[in-house]
Amino acid sequence: MKQKLFACNECDYLIELESLTEGQVALCPRCHHPIVIKKINSLNRTIAVSASGLMLFFPAILYPLMSMNILSLENSASLFSGVQALWQSELYFVATLVFMFCIFTPIIKLLAAFIICMGLKFHKQRITGFKTLFLIYHKVDSWEMLEVFMIGILVSIIKLKDLADLSLNIGLLCFAAFMLCVITLKVTMDKSMIWDEIDND
Ligand SMILES: [Zn+2]
Repeated sequence: MKQKLFACNECDYLIELESLTEGQVALCPRCHHPIVIKKINSLNRTIAVSASGLMLFFPAILYPLMSMNILSLENSASLFSGVQALWQSELYFVATLVFMFCIFTPIIKLLAAFIICMGLKFHKQRITGFKTLFLIYHKVDSWEMLEVFMIGILVSIIKLKDLADLSLNIGLLCFAAFMLCVITLKVTMDKSMIWDEIDND
């Protein structure tokens, strides 16, 4: 069986491994750090998670996250209208950051994961551009910051709850579920397996 060379992320030890079966974990013989983890049913789970995230995308960014009532004046805002409000307030840099890290990057990740896994599942790995798409996934992987935005929302809820009547809307639930889908991609996606499949082409 064909052997491949792997490096331990912790201690740089090099080890030759054969293909693992689903659920197997290869540990470093020197520091016992996991070198390769062959995830179970990775393609189907990634397709399910990315499809759920894609379905939640528009409700998450367009539905109001929360409503605020101050002196009988009610106001509600969605993620997208928040970006628009920042832009109109001439906070261009902040508006661009929120758009890039909370809207653009997560949707690119979900789309890339969905297209790649659907392609591999139906044995269409010869589709031109798979390698480029997966490289884009790698590039944007560390740039999505939904968790930071969620913490910002929670802090604002705590700060504002004594000043105004706050009611949480369906958009917040959709946004939380959308964020969970994007984070879960890290757990379900088997990058090593995908590289192997793309290399086999
Ligand atoms: Zn090691």
